[in-house]
Amino acid sequence: MKVAKLRCTVDRGGNRSSNRPTNDCENGREDDRKEDNRKNDAQIRDHYRTLLAAWGPQHWWPAHTPFEVIVGAFLTQNTAWTNVERALSNLRAADLLSLEGIRRIPLPDLERLIRPSGYFRQKSQRLKAFVAYLDRQHAGSLVGLFAQPTNELREQLLALNGIGPETADSILLYAGNHPVFVVDAYTRRILERHEIIPQKTDYEEIRDLLERALVRADRKPKVGAKERKSNRDGHNSNASLPRTVHPPSPMSTAPRTALAQVYNEMHGLIVGVGKHYCKKSQPHCDGCPLQQFLPRSK
Ligand code: SF4
Repeated sequence: MKVAKLRCTVDRGGNRSSNRPTNDCENGREDDRKEDNRKNDAQIRDHYRTLLAAWGPQHWWPAHTPFEVIVGAFLTQNTAWTNVERALSNLRAADLLSLEGIRRIPLPDLERLIRPSGYFRQKSQRLKAFVAYLDRQHAGSLVGLFAQPTNELREQLLALNGIGPETADSILLYAGNHPVFVVDAYTRRILERHEIIPQKTDYEEIRDLLERALVRADRKPKVGAKERKSNRDGHNSNASLPRTVHPPSPMSTAPRTALAQVYNEMHGLIVGVGKHYCKKSQPHCDGCPLQQFLPRSK
């Protein structure tokens, strides 16, 4: 007996055309959504495991103290890390790379010292505003700041002048070891090119996706023979792979939960892909460890 195929379609005006009962239609769409989520989650976990097996730990963030991470998170807005390093080194040389240092330095002097990081007037004001907030709300204590529940603290940070989602999440994850994923332009670019997300996906949606997918990333590692050999020989044994730029630092090796460690590592690995292979104008897919995940159409 031939069974008529049940269909659920919705036209551009949102009108449903169906020979299924309405509930079946909605359940069908929900099932499709869950199936898409499962596939995307699995893909992202495979991206993570492949990169980690190929390159190993990235030792991000290169800093001695949580406050140094916070200063770096402000300074790295709209500039390359090499420029941030020059500004940080000026502050360090002047013995001002501390909460007390930023609190007491006059604004014009701070502007001069962080000038190499660009937008130095704006960034100086933002640093001063952050210290004023910390003093006002948390009695100048970073321990008190980071003891708050993640979502509450995130809301407070986002309400401050000059702190967008990427800066807030960098502070939460890399200075406070809160389990929050940091989405940057490289994350978006790679996921778009691999057709895991459509263009213009909202920051929060990408963060949700990465956080959900990576929750189980450290549980069932799938490491192939080639990756095992790479691990045995030491990471970066292939000359075409970028070497870890930063040596381990007190902040990169600070104690954190397994989940925060996975988020920490995945962001660092994505930065490596973006800097060395997934360039804005032209991706260099040959030699990229993620080439196996490129959609067939590319
Ligand atoms: S360089 Fe190519 S293979 Fe690598 S992440 Fe970008 S699009 Fe994918």
